[in-house]
Amino acid sequence: MDAAPDLMNKIVSLCKRRGFVFQSSEIYGGLKSSYDYGPLGVELKRNIAQEWWRNMVYERDNVVGIDASIMMHTDVWKASGHLASFSDPLVDCKNCKERFRADKAPKHEPGTMMKYVQGGKAKGEVLEKPVGECGYVCPHCGSPDLSDEREFRCMFRTTMGPVDPLGDFVEEVHGQDLSKEEFKKKLAAYSEQSAAYLRPETAQAMFVQFLNVQQTTSAKVPFGIAQQGKSFRNEIIVEHFIFRSCEFEQMEMEFFCEPGTEDEWLTYWKNERMDWYKAYANNPEKFRLRAHEADELAHYSSACYDIEYEYPWGWDELEGVASRTDYDLKKHAEASGTKLSYFDPNKVDPKTNKKGWRYVPYVIEPAAGLTRTLLCYLLDAYQEESSVDAKGKEKTRVVLKLHPKLAPFKAAILPLVKKDGQPEKAKEISKKFRDLGVNVSCDENQSIGKRYAKHDEIGTPFCITVDNETLENGSVTVRDRDTTEQQRVSIDEAISLVQAKLSR
Ligand code: ATP
Repeated sequence: MDAAPDLMNKIVSLCKRRGFVFQSSEIYGGLKSSYDYGPLGVELKRNIAQEWWRNMVYERDNVVGIDASIMMHTDVWKASGHLASFSDPLVDCKNCKERFRADKAPKHEPGTMMKYVQGGKAKGEVLEKPVGECGYVCPHCGSPDLSDEREFRCMFRTTMGPVDPLGDFVEEVHGQDLSKEEFKKKLAAYSEQSAAYLRPETAQAMFVQFLNVQQTTSAKVPFGIAQQGKSFRNEIIVEHFIFRSCEFEQMEMEFFCEPGTEDEWLTYWKNERMDWYKAYANNPEKFRLRAHEADELAHYSSACYDIEYEYPWGWDELEGVASRTDYDLKKHAEASGTKLSYFDPNKVDPKTNKKGWRYVPYVIEPAAGLTRTLLCYLLDAYQEESSVDAKGKEKTRVVLKLHPKLAPFKAAILPLVKKDGQPEKAKEISKKFRDLGVNVSCDENQSIGKRYAKHDEIGTPFCITVDNETLENGSVTVRDRDTTEQQRVSIDEAISLVQAKLSR
């Protein structure tokens, strides 16, 4: 059996069983591609976001954060090009009827003869046809028998304002004899009046607030603005659980630098970002950098790297690190009439050869998906370990080897029995951890074996067991999630052990 879908199925099932990720609106049959992060998922997501923020903002003098609104002025999206072009070319396969993104389809030289099964079924009549001018085939059945590409609007539109413009529209057109085209035009005009869009990326706010941030913080180029938050894309294809969904979270940073230094900074940031991912991974070799080919680059981008992860279905994107030139600031300056530039009094202007240079900064953008990173670390952490117990029976231990900094709980405090003052002692120890800001689970239900198994499966790095000896001499057993080894130490030593894993 192919291990790939198997691993994804195991992750999806673990996410639901243990409370990492649930299907949205599940009791109503679920909403396609919408997910709710449960009690453990929200912790894991926050921990990843917190580690990113620490690395990108707190540990640097030249990066600051913002938290912008999800809905922005419609002109922002016109200037950025999203309203006109934030669309994916969409194609229908005439053979198997699947709809797919043209830019993601397998490429073949036009004219190459392709064999495919009628209807895209497992067995059946084999047909043959040459690849068309488009140079790709259906990713599902391999057929080159395709529809033309169509544009698909990827931004979610809503209306802003207390009055629904549709009422006025109905008033105006009611009783009029309009052609289909006239009707469409009028409807579009009405809906445009009050249209607002949910952001498809967090990046634009950093460009639009460039001046406010630079002036209020007196930042000197090079400097960066970072942001985390929700983004929304009306994706044609939602796939692989939370890998691609319509509502997701991003962690992006726009790094403004002097023209001419962008290559240097691109190299710096692609390496920084790779190091960041690897620092929390069990399998760092599953992360790689891939430089974009010239024909993959967005028209405003001078170079781009994807940080890719080897998912169960193969290598795919995790983050894009792009050199965006001065395109975005120039576009917003042009459209808003506000000068978005930077003056360096100490630099010589290459045009005038005089001291004092005003320029539009170039931008390097590391753009990561928070929810996609969460999936990555779940895949990276999932392990099944087989062993034989004392009775010679084979058993499997499922363990989520999450980095302690990412783990939802850093330790589980477990009274061996629910009596003899053990639960109270466990609560006392939990409080010590919580007073130090360490999230622990105080868990007294089920047998100790079942509790160990549960905490292995949710990635808790340590189980600290309270027993009669704890009440006698203040010692506890600390069980290591990864080795399952146990040691008897004092409560203070147990706290230090956990803290040591959380410090850098
Ligand atoms: P893809 O090629 O996978 O559609 P993209 O190149 O459109 O991604 P960017 O616009 O560069 O993605 O967004 C930056 C990051 O945001 C991506 O690398 C990914 O981690 C995340 N991301 C983008 N779209 C989605 C989505 N629909 N669901 C989850 N995460 C996403």
